Amino acid sequence: MTTTTITEATTATTAQGRIEIQDLVKQYGSDAPAVAGIDLAIESGEFITLLGPSGSGKTTTLNMIAGFVEPTSGAILLNGNDLTRVAPHRRNFGMVFQNYALFPHMTVFDNVAYPLRQRNKTKAEVRTLVLDILERFGLGGMEHRRPAQLSGGQQQRVALARALVFSPSLVLLDEPLGALDRKLRQSLQAELKSLHQDVGLTFVFVTHDQEEAMFLSDTIAVFNNGRIDRVGRPAELYDDPGTLFVANFLGEANVFAGAWADPQTYGWQDEKWRAATDDRPADAVLVVRPERMRVYPASDVPAGWNSVGATVTDVSRLGPVSRIDLVLPDGRVGAAVLPSNEAVRVGVGDRVRAAWEVGAQAFVVGEAA
Ligand code: ADP
Ligand code: MG
Repeated sequence: MTTTTITEATTATTAQGRIEIQDLVKQYGSDAPAVAGIDLAIESGEFITLLGPSGSGKTTTLNMIAGFVEPTSGAILLNGNDLTRVAPHRRNFGMVFQNYALFPHMTVFDNVAYPLRQRNKTKAEVRTLVLDILERFGLGGMEHRRPAQLSGGQQQRVALARALVFSPSLVLLDEPLGALDRKLRQSLQAELKSLHQDVGLTFVFVTHDQEEAMFLSDTIAVFNNGRIDRVGRPAELYDDPGTLFVANFLGEANVFAGAWADPQTYGWQDEKWRAATDDRPADAVLVVRPERMRVYPASDVPAGWNSVGATVTDVSRLGPVSRIDLVLPDGRVGAAVLPSNEAVRVGVGDRVRAAWEVGAQAFVVGEAA
């Protein structure tokens, strides 16, 4: 019943959370720009994650959307209207930060009521909305406590309730689960995902954790050094990362920086590998995900597969899958992750062929370090 109330309260805004970012730049002093010109369209109702390493410009971008940081140039549009010069409190966005940022001297009730009172809701409306959302977040009966009397997970639920209670047109979340331990983080990830599905609002989420991004997002924008390297659905980016940076940041990759021998053949060291005929950038680097890599004695490589000589340096049994660490002919490390029943015949020191199907390889651009 309480869920219905939140949904009803927010339906009016569900068609109104489309963001368009145009050539956005933030330059602090004479340093390299924190944000170096990004373009991004965020669809209404979408869960988008800004993913990237520390210092890549995620928080600066989020703060420009929120209005806390003024862009050096570029524009941000909400449903086609230019927001760039609109004051933060006029944007009607909900915000959640890593450190909760609750008012420590206020009760849970007053923390969540705060944005409603700022919007001049009646006492009765405030009471209904706050109690409903606290129930929805598993905080029923805790309205008289202060933040210090709550666990970290409960405090973060209060912060989320406060960000959502006034039916914002956009919810901005900056590493909101970063301070929680792994188990609690995973359970809040699941809650956040189902919450997003219930309320249908646009969520812009920041994290440096690729697994968290893959689990939560409809769309991921990968930040690299103040720019967006790639935007796409999680599976798309994982299978066809486009750049070496994305291939390495979103998971793990075996990397072969070779060159085209002819349009269907990619050469690397003494190897000649088959390539499918489409999508082959000129300066391509071949990448293979560890779970697509298999390990065979030289004579057993399946017909039509590509393969490379390798030496096994470690075998770790992780339960249903095992990880085989490899050293490749150029001295780089590689890895294969296989079902454990296939790994039993592999031992440390074995000379093997690491092999993959042609369809399992992807070509990316970027300098191999
Ligand atoms: P992220 O959130 O991805 O870790 P940030 O957006 O916080 O990255 O920072 C991007 C870059 O901008 C970093 O090099 C950071 O040092 C710089 N930066 C961020 N805020 C400021 C500021 N207020 N003044 C000067 N430099 C800043
Ligand atoms: Mg940050």
